[in-house]
Amino acid sequence: MKKFLSILLSAVMAVSMVACSSSTSETGIKDGTYAGEGSGKGGKIAVELTMKDGQIADIVIGENNETPGFADAMTQLRQTMIDTNQIDIDIVSGATLSSKGFIEAVKDAYSKTGAELTDLVAKKVSNNSSEMADSYDADVVIVGAGGAGLSAAITAAENGAKVIVLEKMNNVGGNTLISGGEMAVPGNWLQKKEGIEDSVETFYNDILKGGDNENDPELVRVIAENALNAAEWLKDDVNVTFEDYMLFFGGHSVKRSLVPLNASGVELIEKLTVKAESLGVEIYTNTQAKKLVVENDKVVAVKAENNGKEIDFNAKNGVILASGGFGSNLEMRIANNPEMDEKILSTNSVGSTGDGITMAEEIGAQTVDMQYIQTYPTCDPETGTLLYVGDVRLEGRAILVNLEGKRFVEELERRDVISLATTEQTGGVSYMYFDEASMQAAGVAESHKTEYENLIERGILVKANSVKEAAEHFGIDAEELQKTIDRYNSYCETGKDLEFNKRGKLIAFEEGPCYIMKSAPAIHHTMGGLKINKEAQVLDKDNNVINGLYAAGEVTGDIHGTNRLGSDAIADIVIFGRIAGENAATAK
Ligand SMILES: Cc1cc2nc3c(=O)[nH]c(=O)nc-3n(C[C@H](O)[C@H](O)[C@H](O)COP(=O)(O)OP(=O)(O)OC[C@H]3O[C@@H](n4cnc5c(N)ncnc54)[C@H](O)[C@@H]3O)c2cc1C
Repeated sequence: MKKFLSILLSAVMAVSMVACSSSTSETGIKDGTYAGEGSGKGGKIAVELTMKDGQIADIVIGENNETPGFADAMTQLRQTMIDTNQIDIDIVSGATLSSKGFIEAVKDAYSKTGAELTDLVAKKVSNNSSEMADSYDADVVIVGAGGAGLSAAITAAENGAKVIVLEKMNNVGGNTLISGGEMAVPGNWLQKKEGIEDSVETFYNDILKGGDNENDPELVRVIAENALNAAEWLKDDVNVTFEDYMLFFGGHSVKRSLVPLNASGVELIEKLTVKAESLGVEIYTNTQAKKLVVENDKVVAVKAENNGKEIDFNAKNGVILASGGFGSNLEMRIANNPEMDEKILSTNSVGSTGDGITMAEEIGAQTVDMQYIQTYPTCDPETGTLLYVGDVRLEGRAILVNLEGKRFVEELERRDVISLATTEQTGGVSYMYFDEASMQAAGVAESHKTEYENLIERGILVKANSVKEAAEHFGIDAEELQKTIDRYNSYCETGKDLEFNKRGKLIAFEEGPCYIMKSAPAIHHTMGGLKINKEAQVLDKDNNVINGLYAAGEVTGDIHGTNRLGSDAIADIVIFGRIAGENAATAK
């Protein structure tokens, strides 16, 4: 999406960067195209506003570094501005910084007309979505077009069902789209090639241990036993391309995480969507599920809204909730865990507002583990965006230090452990140190080029010729950092990290060009959600099955306990998505 936006911007810039006013409308607002800038979650947001006859004729969203979920919020705001002919509009909830930055950019562009905001005459918007019917019939209705929803849709369609997927945002994908897409799979083809021994049992124990044994062992076993099959399904049936290397996520006993093309969830969502559509699955975007309809003790429909129009989606066999977690719902976060307040930024898509949990609770569903909310330890300290350049750490080739130049945690520890340790350091931030050889080995400057360049430009990542120069950029104690590196290198010689017992192979840092990246923890995953059984059926407060209601993905709870290990979510959403899809399709 970022690439598309920058191509779009270049094209627009080539035509004209400067306002070219021709005439003035009755309102006194000069016709023309005006450039403006604002500051969003990912830094600068550029726009081009075209005014014609006193009306907003077009807004081109230009160069920006907002991640897809947040870019989607800008698309929504753009449409509302054009539809209403107003600029000072409400922000999209969950995307505060991106919304404010976008509105600021359009206001900046508009200010160049010389007119006041009050000169804009508001247009009345019709609430009716003319193309949509009042109701639709399907065998299976799925709420949410992320990884779980699309996996469920494909499997349900393959089992002969007529499937409809509802997606409230403008585009499909949810958190899955902006994820790294990495998937923990024991016994996978790359492990075999590299001679790494692993087993279903080891994976099972890792998930339980990672979640402090607060997980439901029965659900964990489903994941451990089906991960390989799910990865093969993605590769062979859905046509997902996987890279030929793995990552070593914190808390796992061995390296087992497969990486999709370009280390990005875009590969998963693109291929899942193509497959779903080839099977006749109908996906309705901009369509928000609002309420579950129960008749004779069975969930039979979803009431949804498209552009203000209420539409019934009738589900003959069942409804699958695949609406993701609630990392972008501040109120819900605080209600369940007061520590997860507005001071902590978030990596999540704006659509992650827990709607599925709320709708199911309204009809008596049981929730579990809602207080367990995970932060990701190495995110952008200014925007909360998960920093993929930091994947150098997951290749075992980086150390984390504090402002005093000292290591403070095992770099491949669980996310919650590293996050907590980071918040206890000066300024609540960490500094990731690695050398040029590590950068080359991880290849993140290329695979995450836009992010890399943005971080360098904003001074959050520095490349320097010496440790001293890099440390001085952030005011880190350079002498102490050099000692830390020397000590670490000596551990690499013996293969034993005497300070933090870092797992995996230890590789010494070389002299010469090096990098330091500043980062901080941000909200990442909500472990709690709807209680399901191993057939992906939603349970009520007395542990009875709610007829006709299934759930899969981050909307569910009790699978990851207190803490999800990195790359376990993709395995979870694909496996339970497929189980829910098959069971809903074949239900009577
Ligand atoms: C930046 C980032 C990186 C990550 N990287 C990894 C990784 O590499 N490996 C890993 O295992 N996990 C990773 N995760 C976690 C993982 O991506 C998510 O847990 C997982 O993708 C959730 O999938 P899902 O299908 O349950 O939800 P989502 O993918 O979030 O999809 C839910 C969809 O439902 C829609 N929706 C919500 N409410 C409604 C409604 N009322 N009506 C209609 N639609 C609705 C949403 O808009 C969204 O599109 C990452 C997460 C983030 C944020």
